[in-house]
Amino acid sequence: MGLLAICGSITADLIGYGPRLPRPGESVLGRRFLVAPGGKGANQAVAAARSGARVRLAGARGDDAHGELCAAALAADGVELSAVAVHRGATTGVALICVDEAGENQILAIPGANALVTPPSPCGASVWLCQGEIPAAAIDGVLAAARADGALSICNPSPVNAIDPELVGRFDLAVVNEIEHEALRGHLPERVVLTRGARGAVLLPSGEELPALPARAVDTTGAGDALTGVLAGGLASGMAIEATLRFAIAAAGISVEREGCQTSYPTRAEVERRLQRSTVP
Ligand code: ATP
Repeated sequence: MGLLAICGSITADLIGYGPRLPRPGESVLGRRFLVAPGGKGANQAVAAARSGARVRLAGARGDDAHGELCAAALAADGVELSAVAVHRGATTGVALICVDEAGENQILAIPGANALVTPPSPCGASVWLCQGEIPAAAIDGVLAAARADGALSICNPSPVNAIDPELVGRFDLAVVNEIEHEALRGHLPERVVLTRGARGAVLLPSGEELPALPARAVDTTGAGDALTGVLAGGLASGMAIEATLRFAIAAAGISVEREGCQTSYPTRAEVERRLQRSTVP
């Protein structure tokens, strides 16, 4: 089976739930707190690994408790971590997330060690994937590693305001939501997967539309990461893009029916069962 190499962020999400979001200078008594492994690189690695792909993550973390937590979660899903640098004395990336009763949130993201990610080395991958939460030099390095490996290069340019549009156009394939698609008009490669939330996804340039899985959405956080990771994993395993996108849409659809991000990602067997159910008359 081909290897999916991802170069991306590793972040601990520190999530506090309260009755409302604090105003500047105010303290609000919260109800619940949890620490969850996150970061777009790590999320996509977990989503891909759970769908059955062979995955190697390149990135950086600190030698702190959050870094240990994130690494343990990745290892538990079988993600290969030898290219994750552990920086002594550095802080692992964190996102401080406040969520109110209506599900509205505010986020303070501190890149920490993610700002120290360096260009990755070629590793015999068949697909290379990256996102926008790492330095431009590392993204450029992904393109070089993909070229050296003779691999397909995929970019998920999110967050869109943190990535150089010129770099995005040099990838073989981009996975974008509607906001990113609009913001990067004129800078995207010819081949694009455009995700449209509950309306599914469109393959460009063919314009083929694939509907979303009918889902009772409770938490859509990380749905884009689920779709991107599973899609890249399927392509690395040699699946055709239409078939792997259908599978990735089903995986993302299941993830929105569950709370959390990495915790919401389904296994391959769960996706297969759901697809069977939705095709049985
Ligand atoms: P996020 O930022 O929340 O991770 P995104 O904006 O990157 O997501 P979306 O287009 O919102 O990406 O969602 C990605 C995919 O997840 C969609 O193409 C779809 O397949 C699936 N999805 C998202 N929301 C729903 C929903 N309400 N019902 C079913 N599937 C959904």
